[in-house]
Amino acid sequence: MVHDVMYLRYLDYVLKHKWFVFLEYIRLGIPFQGIVHDMSKFRWSEFRDYAFNFYASEKAKSDDNWNLYGDYHVWELIPWGMMYQDKFKIAWMHHQRRNPHHWEYWVNWERKGYEFPVPIPKKYLKEMLADWRAMSITQGGNTAEWYLKNQSKMLIREESREWLEKQLGVRDEAVILRKKEAIVEIEKIRRRYVQEKIQRACSD
Ligand SMILES: [Zn+2]
Repeated sequence: MVHDVMYLRYLDYVLKHKWFVFLEYIRLGIPFQGIVHDMSKFRWSEFRDYAFNFYASEKAKSDDNWNLYGDYHVWELIPWGMMYQDKFKIAWMHHQRRNPHHWEYWVNWERKGYEFPVPIPKKYLKEMLADWRAMSITQGGNTAEWYLKNQSKMLIREESREWLEKQLGVRDEAVILRKKEAIVEIEKIRRRYVQEKIQRACSD
């Protein structure tokens, strides 16, 4: 029973999140999308793994017997050695693939090093923004600051980024930040190149 509370706590979180997203949607003029937002989180293939990952007790998560309460059937843990962290990542992957309000949905993962972001339709950009803002309300913090801190981890097509950044009021800052980060990245590659050249020269 105590263990099952994690499902209720997670349900409480999802409902609160959906409510704040709905309010944001009204602001953006797309209330219907607000109602259907994140519906897939109620599917068992997402709900259980999210609940377990965020709300299970440390005891339930402990390495040796993390399936202590039988949340998972043994056959679900094939391939052997699957941990709740793996199950959570799979659920998160399902969520991204099912929901166009996540930028990951709009990236063509062709092969390593050739990820290709495509433009995101305006209605989903609005949904993304509402999702981020609602997240800031439930978790505390400021959406613009959160975006600036995390922007380089997101693969978003430039024109879609521009719209999002203008809405957040951080367009200029974000562009400068990206340029600075690109310079640091180029410098790292240059150093690695020089290092490799020296090593090659020494081993000849
Ligand atoms: Zn979502």
